[in-house]
Amino acid sequence: MAGTLYLVPTPLGNLGDISRRQAETLASVDFIAAEDTRVSIKLLNHLEIKKPMLSYHEHNKAGGGVRILERLLAGESCALVTDAGTPAISDPGEDLVRLAAESGVEVVSIPGPCAAITALAASGMPTGRFTFEGFLSVAGKSRRERLEELKGERRTMIFYEAPHKLVGTLQDMLEAWGDRALCIAREMTKLNEEIVRTSLSGALARYTEAAPRGEFVLIIAGAEPETPKATMEDALARVEALRAQGMRLKEASRAAAAETGLSRNEIYNAALRGSGDGTD
Ligand code: SAM
Repeated sequence: MAGTLYLVPTPLGNLGDISRRQAETLASVDFIAAEDTRVSIKLLNHLEIKKPMLSYHEHNKAGGGVRILERLLAGESCALVTDAGTPAISDPGEDLVRLAAESGVEVVSIPGPCAAITALAASGMPTGRFTFEGFLSVAGKSRRERLEELKGERRTMIFYEAPHKLVGTLQDMLEAWGDRALCIAREMTKLNEEIVRTSLSGALARYTEAAPRGEFVLIIAGAEPETPKATMEDALARVEALRAQGMRLKEASRAAAAETGLSRNEIYNAALRGSGDGTD
């Protein structure tokens, strides 16, 4: 019978965030596939767990995945861990999960830390609907195209970004969307944790002055719904309704202008022309 592939999230920075179930799983599997064994060994030492490990990362995932699958099919169980957070979320794992699932291997996803969700929860932005964008492409053209596609996105948006690319990314976003509310979650669960609720321009000023350091999640407000523009026809219909209630033309035009955002004089003159009697 085939073994099980366990997806085991690991702390974003604070080792106290390891859960009992995560630790028990790491202790019980036959072997651990780690994004970087040098990083994961520190966690295993902290938990006093000794376990055979192998590397599974972006650059060996094709061959590495097949070797892991063979062991799973032979009945061994495997825990997949990455350097921090949840495997398969902007991290290696997606392909291995697909491979395992297609081969009938059971995949158990253990809940735990994920930078995107941890930041979103603290952001104060609408959380009912959101979209996770992960890292933007480093290639200028596809990056600009993606930002353009997201211009009208109404949901809260979540991005990951590396410190040395942060200023460029904020500039590109500001250029593509104009200013927006932004929450920057930096170094979450670590000594220098910072949750900054600001705007794209505010963050740009802040990080242009002092070079950004650490790990960042950007939570960005979605686009405001476009308010349909009122027409002169709408304004005149409103004037007519107000006049029918006994309001004088001047006041009705003023009220219609306030409601529609159109010019009071233009509404007044158009209404005068429309009535043809020149009465106020
Ligand atoms: N799979 C991981 C997860 O579930 O969060 C994400 C891995 S991705 C390669 C790494 C990115 O996550 C970083 O560049 C940063 O954007 C974000 N990140 C990870 N740890 C963080 C932390 N402690 N504070 C802020 N952002 C963090």
